[in-house]
Amino acid sequence: MKRRKTKKIMVGKVAVGEFSKISIQSMLKLPSEDIIGNVKQALDLEKEGCDILRVAIPNKNALKLIYAIKKEIKIPLVADIHFDYRLAVESVFAGADKVRINPGNIGGVACVKEIVKACVFKNIPIRVGVNSGSLPKSILKKYSTPNVNALCDSVISSVNILEKLNFDKIIVSVKSSNVMNTIEAYEFLSQKIEYPLHLGVTEAGSETQGVLKSSCAIGSLLTRGIGDTIRVTLTDEPKKEIDVAKELLAVLGMKKNGIEIISCPTCGRTKVDLMDFTKKVKNHFKDSKKNIKLALMGCAVNGPGEASEADLGVAFGENEGIIFKNGKILKKVSYNYIFEELVKVADDFV
Ligand code: SF4
Repeated sequence: MKRRKTKKIMVGKVAVGEFSKISIQSMLKLPSEDIIGNVKQALDLEKEGCDILRVAIPNKNALKLIYAIKKEIKIPLVADIHFDYRLAVESVFAGADKVRINPGNIGGVACVKEIVKACVFKNIPIRVGVNSGSLPKSILKKYSTPNVNALCDSVISSVNILEKLNFDKIIVSVKSSNVMNTIEAYEFLSQKIEYPLHLGVTEAGSETQGVLKSSCAIGSLLTRGIGDTIRVTLTDEPKKEIDVAKELLAVLGMKKNGIEIISCPTCGRTKVDLMDFTKKVKNHFKDSKKNIKLALMGCAVNGPGEASEADLGVAFGENEGIIFKNGKILKKVSYNYIFEELVKVADDFV
């Protein structure tokens, strides 16, 4: 898969675009008055693997969050601004590493000009974040519905405004709650602009639906080489967004660190609790930086064949299992001891 080359934009110390690593983003979700809670959530997300963190700045009081969070975290912090351009300007001077504005509600060119002046002074980028739910009235009047043309028109008009103000530190997102519209809009923009694309689906929902919507849209675009940074948007804890994003990049082969687990779905031939065993293994290796493909197979029918394709594998029988290493049988171990044995073999694996 050939990645589309975009302009490199620095968000704090994180490079977005050109062929930089696909960065993972999330957003703080506690009420903005809760400074202590938000700082803690920010630190947790940084630890979890969030590369770029966003915080909503709904009023002047919330600017305190930027000072408090910036003191504690090393990853870049993005101020999310709607309606009031002055909050964007003040966020820049409070230390935000990027501002996200929504062209649908930030005001006219004069307001954007003030934000640009501040960003030029502090040398930070702006994300033009267009959402299907908050398009400018003029665009909605032109297209009647927030379709793909409306979304892309809004992005391109906003980018043109920034460029006319001689500003080119731009990152773009064009999110719809409709998966197909999201894919089409990003595909179109990838042909038209050279700025890095922040991928995501807006209001994706919760649980399985949310995960699927984001995975289909983001995954489909990434496999076509489109996208530079991602946010999985879920009605859930932000930690879940990071976990899903990390797994998504891992299954696409775009994140190299970590153990890849291949486990069979189980069937009537399975004689052990493979679901529980897989959870235990996954949990044990969740922070591992080793690049190992680990197969966990429920029986001896397909098990050895599948396990032989992995670096390490287990094929279970009744109350016991065979551990494989690089396709060769290493040992037969009883079910009660196999977890510890497997961990030992994985820890020693070079
Ligand atoms: S590997 Fe064995 S237990 Fe697992 S699904 Fe296939 S046949 Fe069933």
